[in-house]
Amino acid sequence: MALRPAPVGTGIVFTRIDQGNALLPAAYDLVSETRLGTTLRNGDGVGLAAVEHLMAALWGCEIDNLFVDIDGPEVPAMDGSAAPFVFLMECAGVVEQGASRQAVRVCRSVEVIDGDKRIALTPADDFSVDLLIDFDNPMIARQSSCFHGGSFAFKTEISRARTFGFENEVAALHAAGFALGGSLENAVVVGEDRVLNEGGLRYDNEFVRHKTLDCVGDLYLAGAPLLAHVDAHCSGHGLNNAVLRALFASDRNWKLEPVMSALPSWSETAVAAEA
Ligand SMILES: [Zn+2]
Repeated sequence: MALRPAPVGTGIVFTRIDQGNALLPAAYDLVSETRLGTTLRNGDGVGLAAVEHLMAALWGCEIDNLFVDIDGPEVPAMDGSAAPFVFLMECAGVVEQGASRQAVRVCRSVEVIDGDKRIALTPADDFSVDLLIDFDNPMIARQSSCFHGGSFAFKTEISRARTFGFENEVAALHAAGFALGGSLENAVVVGEDRVLNEGGLRYDNEFVRHKTLDCVGDLYLAGAPLLAHVDAHCSGHGLNNAVLRALFASDRNWKLEPVMSALPSWSETAVAAEA
């Protein structure tokens, strides 16, 4: 995967360089599958899986414009978090561009409910995520997190949280020929009464922090940062996408507006060098 600078107004655009340079804009309405991660698919059927952790890193680094060239069907898993992407973008550098950032302001609340899972977007002048998870597994159980911050808070509090899976699922995946070898390098693996990874967890509540990371990345498929408060209960990739579809279903729910701020971080930015 290579990240290349892009001009103002490009947005985030993936290119499958192994599929005739098929283009996949990072757009909520190209999301086709959400079971194991967030997959984009264009009108020609070319797909790209697992975009959410990179999208979260781009939100955290305030990257509006970027070409992402990739020669395979999914974004590299790295360590299962967004931190390696943040690191590479900070190494490459980020430049301000000659245009104001655009944000999607949520004007009317929207909510999606699926059984005991729900996610709601409500109007706000900044972006925040309150998230609660509730798992049967005692190692995770009930955890909540309130993310109320920008770039710095994302990088320090959220970006390092890794994806997770369960020991029995890993065994089943191995039996089916998937996820061989790398499980402990790119995910937290949770057993009945312990975390299998040497070194344990990066945060006591790493699980809910990772769900927050997923939510940030999935919602950045709005095409611009949201001005909204997110309230989510056991939400996953499917509901994260569904709430964006609900938001954009009516023009009265949202508006695109330039962010009027003296902060340089609210100018459009692009990655400065290839990472
Ligand atoms: Zn994830």
